[in-house]
Amino acid sequence: EGEAVSHKFEAETKQLLEIVAKSLYTDKEVFVRELISNASDALEKRRHLQLTAADASSAHAAESELQVKVSCDTAKRLLVIQDGGVGMSKEELVENLGCIARSGSKAFMEQMKGGASGAPASSSASSIIGRFGVGFYSVFMVAESVRVFSRRIDSADPEGVGYCWSSTGDGAYSLSRATNVKVGTKVEISLKADASEFASQYNLERIIRKHSSFVTFPVTLHGERLNTLEPVWMKPKGAATAEEHEELYRHLASAYDSPRATLQFETDAPIAIKSVFYVPPSHREKMGMGQQEPAVSLYSRKVLITPRCAELLPAWMRFVVGVVDSEDVPLNISRETMQDSALLRRISQVLSARLLKWWNEQARADPAAYGGFYAEFAKFLKEGACTDFARQREIVKLLRFESSTAPAGSLVGLDEYIGRMAPEQGDKIYYLVTSSRAAAEASAYMEVFKSKGHEVLWCYQEIDDFVFQNAGTYEGKTLVSAAAADLTLADGAGAAGALGKDETKALGKWMVAGPLSERVSEVMASARLVDSPAVINEAGGQSASMRRFMMMVDQ
Ligand code: ADP
Ligand code: MG
Repeated sequence: EGEAVSHKFEAETKQLLEIVAKSLYTDKEVFVRELISNASDALEKRRHLQLTAADASSAHAAESELQVKVSCDTAKRLLVIQDGGVGMSKEELVENLGCIARSGSKAFMEQMKGGASGAPASSSASSIIGRFGVGFYSVFMVAESVRVFSRRIDSADPEGVGYCWSSTGDGAYSLSRATNVKVGTKVEISLKADASEFASQYNLERIIRKHSSFVTFPVTLHGERLNTLEPVWMKPKGAATAEEHEELYRHLASAYDSPRATLQFETDAPIAIKSVFYVPPSHREKMGMGQQEPAVSLYSRKVLITPRCAELLPAWMRFVVGVVDSEDVPLNISRETMQDSALLRRISQVLSARLLKWWNEQARADPAAYGGFYAEFAKFLKEGACTDFARQREIVKLLRFESSTAPAGSLVGLDEYIGRMAPEQGDKIYYLVTSSRAAAEASAYMEVFKSKGHEVLWCYQEIDDFVFQNAGTYEGKTLVSAAAADLTLADGAGAAGALGKDETKALGKWMVAGPLSERVSEVMASARLVDSPAVINEAGGQSASMRRFMMMVDQ
């Protein structure tokens, strides 16, 4: 065996390890899941190589090697998790285990830094860990020391030679050459005294069944296979239990919560697709966390082709978590061919249409649940309405707003609005973008609508203006801003004592030339006001929020 060389962890990694080890993580057992999922990822990579390698000999493994083997020794407080996956080279051991490579861990550290200065309170640390999971490092919640033996599948070293990475999780790790290492990775954990339960066969069996039943490779404990389930998405619709869905969701999302909604979808024509989609309870673009990666993975006959595949759904649907399995997708499809693959575009069209239909069905069948979904994800729908022109109508259909005729808090969609439009409204749908319901209620723009009894949709976000202007029409009706609407009160003009046409003009001119010269460019008579003496119109037909939005986009 070679001499061990000691290395320091990257500063950020050290910090993460401290938080993980010290946090009040109530669910310590999830580290087993993290390690098994790493093993499963490595096996996926190996199987993929094996199926696509021109020269199969180098990558070829017996089925018996494509497994995750777990064993334990209660007396020695030892737990071993071994896989026959792709393995890691010396450099990869350093890169993957010595610093924060993983997006979840990175996001975690960013959020920790975003909090109050100094060390975070342990309760908030554990809640944040609970949301992300921190992969390999979670092992240090239970480990006194860890040794990782690994040999890469394409290693040029003599048979059996690999590397050993070891650490006690306190600032440094060491690396040495090792012999008798099989292709793949073996993680050997010496458990802390207070974590001895993880060297109990009975307990491990329970944990593995609970957290790893979705793994597509056999997971064995002392030779006995524990996971015999078909992957959830391959089962007939409705056959998978809520627990199975939850586990798959947690695996895909690296999350510890439960999906708020689940859709399983299967079709044979025009393309064979088996898929399952989850909407998480919340999205992760809050608190300055940056744009989420797509979270739907592409499989072909249970073999992972592309994790987090960007081509499967339009970018605005990136909050959706799921798996798409299509046997029509060739296993050796590359990143480049993927981008201009007509097949993937067709798959994407079918899936996007199905998801939109699903949300629309949900909105009708269970408005309360839809309201919850909408409150969390409206931001993405609106982004879609502004960017995904092919599906704009279907997306706008899903939008909901407060309105001048609906009670506070209740939301109205455009279809509902159209359903009760007054005939004299013609083909115009009115909306008002303002800051709040109170502001909308007090707005001078509303006076003419109140007097005529026309409903106006009230929107409180700047992007709403952009959405409506972008869409322009919906179901043959024009979307008109209440602020720009050319409406007059039936009896507005000609009231007793009103100024004549010429007098009005003269008054306007005088105001522009004199007292208001700095602020306005034109003063006109309005026939749309009931109580207010005046209302300010935006130059060029652009509303204030629209101008602010355009400025944001331009910069
Ligand atoms: P993630 O799995 O999300 O990338 P982890 O912290 O769990 O994050 O693992 C970090 C990286 O270490 C992995 O991306 C992978 O490259 C490598 N790794 C961990 N375990 C194994 C394993 N059993 N076989 C091969 N590579 C592994
Ligand atoms: Mg992992």
